[in-house]
Amino acid sequence: MTGIIILIAVAVFVLILFLIAALKKPPQERRMPIKEEVDAQAAAGRLAGAIRIPTVSDFDRSKMDYSRFDELHAYLKRAYPLVHGTLTREVTDRKCLIYHWQGTDEALLPAGLLAHMDVVPVNEAEWDDPPFSGVIRDGYVYGRGALDMKGQLIAVLESVEALLKEGFAPKRSIYLLFGSDEEPMGEFGAKLISEELQGRGVRLSFLLDEGGAIQDGRMMGVKRDIALIGICEKGIMNLRLTAKGKGGHASMPPRVTAAGGVARAVTALEAHQMKGSFNYAAENMFKTLTPHMGGAFKFFFANQWLFGGLLKSILCKIPASAALIRTTFAPTQLSGSNAPNVLAGSASAVFNIRIAPGETDQDVLAHVRKAAPDTQQDVIYYYPPSPVSRVDTEEYRSVARAVADAFPELVVAPYPVVAATDSRHYYNICDHVFRFVPFLSLKDDLGTVHAANERLSIESLGRGIAFYKHLVRTTCGPGQS
Ligand SMILES: [Zn+2]
Repeated sequence: MTGIIILIAVAVFVLILFLIAALKKPPQERRMPIKEEVDAQAAAGRLAGAIRIPTVSDFDRSKMDYSRFDELHAYLKRAYPLVHGTLTREVTDRKCLIYHWQGTDEALLPAGLLAHMDVVPVNEAEWDDPPFSGVIRDGYVYGRGALDMKGQLIAVLESVEALLKEGFAPKRSIYLLFGSDEEPMGEFGAKLISEELQGRGVRLSFLLDEGGAIQDGRMMGVKRDIALIGICEKGIMNLRLTAKGKGGHASMPPRVTAAGGVARAVTALEAHQMKGSFNYAAENMFKTLTPHMGGAFKFFFANQWLFGGLLKSILCKIPASAALIRTTFAPTQLSGSNAPNVLAGSASAVFNIRIAPGETDQDVLAHVRKAAPDTQQDVIYYYPPSPVSRVDTEEYRSVARAVADAFPELVVAPYPVVAATDSRHYYNICDHVFRFVPFLSLKDDLGTVHAANERLSIESLGRGIAFYKHLVRTTCGPGQS
């Protein structure tokens, strides 16, 4: 009898879990298809022109050829005459560009559209075509920067040029903010621009930078692809771990060596990771996606109150999802002695650590000391995780709506960006910092970013331009208050 009662209770409980999942239905959205005129072919030609100017940045700024940025500035001036005839433009000491498009209502906080003009260096031997030749072939623009991020730079300028041509006048002012050293961390670009604007008393309503993406939904059990809007980004720490040992001739090695010590530290940190947690951005991402999920995904995510722990441990096993919910450790550089027959007196490993929102350098160091107690820790670089932009605001809703309108085939969700962008330097003047790459072809070509044969499809460029036009119209046009 008791057995039957337990069985019935379990059955009812499972039924309730299924019901909870079934009740999570996608919201009824009214998406108005956008009709923006775009000449994608002509834009592709102008993107190719921008790619042909190799504005390569370097951690050692003295190695940067800043005259290339002058060249790019002159090129943009020729390519976008209406932008340069209407907006004011300033060039900073480090060749960044600040454009200001005056709106008709001074009471509205301006919007910011960001891009960076610099690109990472190339290994020319790996490329099918010269990386700075801007080849257009089979519907793609090829070259360093096509995706990261001259494509977006050009899409922003194309959209403003087109809107001006159509006689559009913004009600909300708009800043176009283009950095010159995003790749080496933006210290002299984005950081100085934001400080300059802060000094002038400028505050931004919202800003949009690179960082989010369009992703295959299947990895989350979602049938449609997903447009991810980054609402925060992880922190970065470069940490050197050093193990000491007895140096000397390698013919009579001691039982414990410096190289062995550092190797043990690397294995220990791989084996003992920091805990995963559903931070605000991850939590809201899963919350938004759950109604769109199918099958087991939906069952488990809809009942997170019960399966939260299990989900976390599964997500932590997959690198792509682990990066979203926990701090990650990547050993990137190892060094020991400089001769094959010499024992290292000290050996070291450098870790590139991406710190989850809500955690700090102290949390990371405490974890490292516990996992690798016999090493010395030296922090080479630290930038804390960014604040998180909330999703229950009109600023988020209006950007998300513009994305949804421009890409009606996608599910739109917030998420934590696992890489770093220029936008993290702008929290001093903006609370609503968002990141999104409006290019569908990025999904298939993500592997070409910072690698060989980087490319952007012309069709994707066209839709990206349409997105920016629509975004400006809906967030900065008449009807703003
Ligand atoms: Zn970039």
